[in-house]
Amino acid sequence: MSALSYISEYGSNSEDSDCEIYSASAVKKIKLHVPDLSNIAVVPKENIKDNPAVHGGRKRSFPHERGNWASFIYVKYPDEEFLHNWIEKLREEVSCVEATCEQCDNIHISLSKTFILKYHLINPFTSSLQEVLGSIECFELSFGAIKVYCNEENTRTFISLEVDYSSNKYLSNISNKIDQVLEEYKLPKFYDDPSFHVSLLWFHGNKKRELKDILEKLNNTVQQDLHQHNKTGFIDKLNCKIGNKYFQYSLQP
Ligand code: AMP
Repeated sequence: MSALSYISEYGSNSEDSDCEIYSASAVKKIKLHVPDLSNIAVVPKENIKDNPAVHGGRKRSFPHERGNWASFIYVKYPDEEFLHNWIEKLREEVSCVEATCEQCDNIHISLSKTFILKYHLINPFTSSLQEVLGSIECFELSFGAIKVYCNEENTRTFISLEVDYSSNKYLSNISNKIDQVLEEYKLPKFYDDPSFHVSLLWFHGNKKRELKDILEKLNNTVQQDLHQHNKTGFIDKLNCKIGNKYFQYSLQP
């Protein structure tokens, strides 16, 4: 499953909290009064029954529990419109595959898997991220080739654009730093062999075999465009979504 769609579907249990954009450095400075919670009843853990019908038939791969904030670190590509052109072109070319193809919403490049953060860890976690990400410089991101991925449960297949060699080096360095923080908080690290990409379209189930036959054709379409436009995107911030809260980390100029 696409990491961002996990978050938009499952969010957190904090339906009552506003959707806010924080600057990580601002979060660091605010000192909140520590409330006395000794008389407050503990809310019992509650399993909420999954209803795939309300989220495009996609299945949850971890239970929704009170106190669990689905979280995720990612890069947002600055020119989404450019990617939307490709979505349209690719969609036409995959129409020969006998399965319903959906457009990926919340276009992003993952820097972490989706992980679960407890509420009391949000502030320390975002501060730790700020510490390791604060020294990273802005960079240009370019794409390489179309690649097909399956999620870990093999329930979805993605048609994605992998980043090119030099962007991969930048993102690997960032991902290593993020992994250090995830490890510190005993959270799952990203892949051992990460392949940074932006997912554009997806299918239910594992459709790798069906897509293998048309991969070359898909790549020809994209390569022509890439050469013609010599397109790069300037990345000057990284993003972290925790439940319905957004944190942004500015990169050094
Ligand atoms: P994303 O667009 O980042 O949500 O990724 C789409 C899917 O690619 C996710 O469900 C990942 O589990 C999957 N994936 C499979 N192999 C890799 C890999 N080596 N690096 C990154 N993502 C991967």
